[in-house]
Amino acid sequence: MKKVIPIASGRAPAPVFAGGELADTRGRAMHDLRISVTDRCNFRCVYCMPREVFDSQYRFLPQSAILSFEEIARLAGIFVDLGVRKIRLTGGEPLVRRDLHRLVAMLAPLGAELTLTTNGSLLAKQARALKAAGLQRVTVSLDSLDDATFRAMNDADFPVARVLEAIDVAAAEGLTPVKINTVVKRGVNDQDIVRMAERWRGSGHIVRFIEYMDVGSSNGWRMDEVVPSAEVVRRISARWPLVPADANYGGEVAQRWRYVDGAGEVGVISSVTQAFCSTCTRMRLSTEGSLFTCLFAQSGHDLKSLLRAGASDDAIRNEIAAVWQRRADRYSEIRTAETAKERKVEMSYIGG
Ligand code: SAM
Repeated sequence: MKKVIPIASGRAPAPVFAGGELADTRGRAMHDLRISVTDRCNFRCVYCMPREVFDSQYRFLPQSAILSFEEIARLAGIFVDLGVRKIRLTGGEPLVRRDLHRLVAMLAPLGAELTLTTNGSLLAKQARALKAAGLQRVTVSLDSLDDATFRAMNDADFPVARVLEAIDVAAAEGLTPVKINTVVKRGVNDQDIVRMAERWRGSGHIVRFIEYMDVGSSNGWRMDEVVPSAEVVRRISARWPLVPADANYGGEVAQRWRYVDGAGEVGVISSVTQAFCSTCTRMRLSTEGSLFTCLFAQSGHDLKSLLRAGASDDAIRNEIAAVWQRRADRYSEIRTAETAKERKVEMSYIGG
């Protein structure tokens, strides 16, 4: 009989994980792991890390609090044992973490699909090393093709041309298909939807329009600033007709739409207007080694203490399994204007 390490919160110890498919209280399996490798970012996107909050006084995590690459790789191996099939590195901005390709090289042999989400600012320089280390694909966030709008949204005066160049470099290195994430905020960049679709039609890259979400507690989210995905699809379809396409796999976040004229596809991520909690298979590992079972969580489960106290792989596996088995969250299904005001962890910390 394996020993169970009690969970720090003082709840009763969970049963030892006996193997097989891991399911939570709603029958959802754990297939994806998002790893936040840093809570820092060189952008100050207005909807994510507003400059008024994340200013020079903001206390980012000290180095000692952050999981090392060795610690991340060890945990990732345990997650893969537990059924994770896809790992996404994120943050903060993952490419501001020094030598990230070293971590990629440590994760690649685990055999899970390995991807990265980035703002693209440092990608052109690192794409080759990341690909050589075993990264399979990248998702690049890009909110506008209009330079002034883009600079205003990233609030770091970063030019759009450099991100476009990074997308080309990533594609040339084989980090394909490149996915492009566009957060749509009404009155800020929604005038760019059709232009964005036009830019990526027929390119082999896939643009996904994301509904602006009430993540964290600092972005001042309002429902009237959300552009529903249905409207995005309607606007694009009025120019180039779209038809729904089948999901690539169960639990896929984006709904896929195919151009009738064969110019590829676009995706929409409708976390606000069409919650997909019931098919959510994602676990998140924060920069300092806490587990979160929901992007909108208010607290996590500390794994780092266990790790640094010398726990065995079995003990850590049991702890992760227990967290997942107890999972009941479905925030996006119960979101109201009131819940949006609740104090939630910031996306830059938990990993987007
Ligand atoms: N720095 C990287 C990047 O820019 O892609 C990775 C982290 S970022 C938090 C991950 C994704 O979350 C980005 O595509 C970003 O646009 C999206 N995001 C951040 N805040 C959001 C919000 N309030 N609503 C919707 N998407 C958001």
